[in-house]
Amino acid sequence: MLDKPWVSQYPSEIPHSLAYSEKTLAQLFEEAAKKNPHKCAVHFLGKRLTFHELYEQAITLAVYLKEIGVQKGDRVAIMLPNCPQAVISFYGVLLAGGIVVETNPLYTERELEYQLNDSGATCIIALDLLYPRISKVKALTKIKHVISTSIKDYLPFPKNLLYPYVQKKQQAITVQVEHMGDTHLFPTIMKRKRESETFVYDVTSNENIALLQYTGGTTGFPKGVMLTHKNLVTNATMCSHWLYRCKQGHEKILGILPFFHVYGLTTVLILSVLEGYEMILLPKFDVESVLKTIHKQRPTLFPGAPTIYIALLNHPDLSKYNLSSIDSCISGSAPLPVEVQEKFEEITGGKLVEGYGLTETSPVTHSNFVWEKRIRGSIGVPWPDTDAKIISFETGEALPINEIGEIVVKGPQVMKGYWHRPDETEAVLQDGWLKTGDVGYMDEDGFFYIVDRKKDMIIAGGYNIYPREIEEVLYEHPKVQEVVVAGIPDEYRGETVKAYIVLKNGVSCTEEELNTFSRQYLAAYKVPRVYEFRKELPKTAVGKILRRALVEEEKESQKKA
Ligand code: AMP
Repeated sequence: MLDKPWVSQYPSEIPHSLAYSEKTLAQLFEEAAKKNPHKCAVHFLGKRLTFHELYEQAITLAVYLKEIGVQKGDRVAIMLPNCPQAVISFYGVLLAGGIVVETNPLYTERELEYQLNDSGATCIIALDLLYPRISKVKALTKIKHVISTSIKDYLPFPKNLLYPYVQKKQQAITVQVEHMGDTHLFPTIMKRKRESETFVYDVTSNENIALLQYTGGTTGFPKGVMLTHKNLVTNATMCSHWLYRCKQGHEKILGILPFFHVYGLTTVLILSVLEGYEMILLPKFDVESVLKTIHKQRPTLFPGAPTIYIALLNHPDLSKYNLSSIDSCISGSAPLPVEVQEKFEEITGGKLVEGYGLTETSPVTHSNFVWEKRIRGSIGVPWPDTDAKIISFETGEALPINEIGEIVVKGPQVMKGYWHRPDETEAVLQDGWLKTGDVGYMDEDGFFYIVDRKKDMIIAGGYNIYPREIEEVLYEHPKVQEVVVAGIPDEYRGETVKAYIVLKNGVSCTEEELNTFSRQYLAAYKVPRVYEFRKELPKTAVGKILRRALVEEEKESQKKA
């Protein structure tokens, strides 16, 4: 048996090992600006910025950050939706030698305060509309400077065309922001003249940390994942090779995945700079705007998550839009139902492949091949220079083919560790092998399959039940649009299986119908005992369904009952 059976499956165009640039992200960004100065780098709601313009603005920000005291290794938080300022800020902070701390604009004050304190950020670049939240927690953190920007700063049309309500809210916020002594306005910074043409980098080693990305990891407690320039550059390079067939010189990446998650950062913001691709940004996911944007702007690459593709496929006016520009899409962050994959490919004529990864791995470690052998329902094979195996939960020993255990991975995209948490790092990272917390197996050809997540496994009446298997079955039901299955507390069985269902538009369905359907495909102990129909399911910013939140909700309501 081959040690790495997946390698024999690689198409000849993809080497098992790639050559990676040793430069930092800031240096690669400069290189991109020199190589493609006049090419469009960012397209945002009609506004276009070339690579040269983007670079000039990022340098202007970097010079300013240095002037206000940001030094090598200082943490700068970015709390923005996808917009030109998010790109400028990311590279601006890195050019100044800082470490980016991506912050979710939806964070509550408590979450924000926790993340700012844990990372020790001294500066935050944020959307002005978020200012009230920031001003409330600022005194409790080390934040000295707030750089504020408005969506309207980069809109191509006059400000008075903004909806009156937004306009009013904007005015109020701008006045508030302008009266804060320690607040700096993004447009004012951008208007500054630079004295010197040359810029001195503070960070020249790609082993330095570029990003602190917060995640619950396997324990659920938020920790800062330390990702180096090398981690991010190698992962984006792997991604670029994986999409080798679609390189036609006019690639445009649709950037819907938020940049405050590493999935969007690597597959959109870093990949496009590495390869000189245009990124088409949308500040938030809205099905109709996404369809319109694909129809008009003709993106070729579209990284996303299952819930994003599902939402597009279920739009009532789908057939009005031309989606044929889509060449290839990687779907990650959650299992991709086979049904969705097939339907999406049929409608776009492109390929949708399932990939897999986690924040701790920058994020991608596995995916199916875009044009070659693809196995539906599998997360694919490990990417070049990436090793993976299945180990026993009990002994930690490597398990044979087709046996279920924990997936562990090793490669240049694996994090340096958790910020200021050596014990937590040690618990998951040993000799370069990262424990993913995901349950799965590998087949004879080296294709990996996720069975479930360690903590999502349901134990009902002594049986181990994997929600994903049940979800796959329910997704095949013609009336079901979205489903998530969870283990809820049960007096007799410890846990019992509950399915939360979102039905397709305009249909009705009974529990009995779903039960009869499930019984055809599932052993009796796996068939959900409880169903709940909902209008929508709670999701993270990248579209992952929040199964845990539903379980917590259930526990609360059981307590009250
Ligand atoms: P995050 O750190 O937020 O990116 O979450 C990583 C987790 O998402 C992984 O550990 C998996 O549990 C899950 N995940 C990512 N991709 C997939 C996939 N293709 N299938 C199933 N689960 C996935």
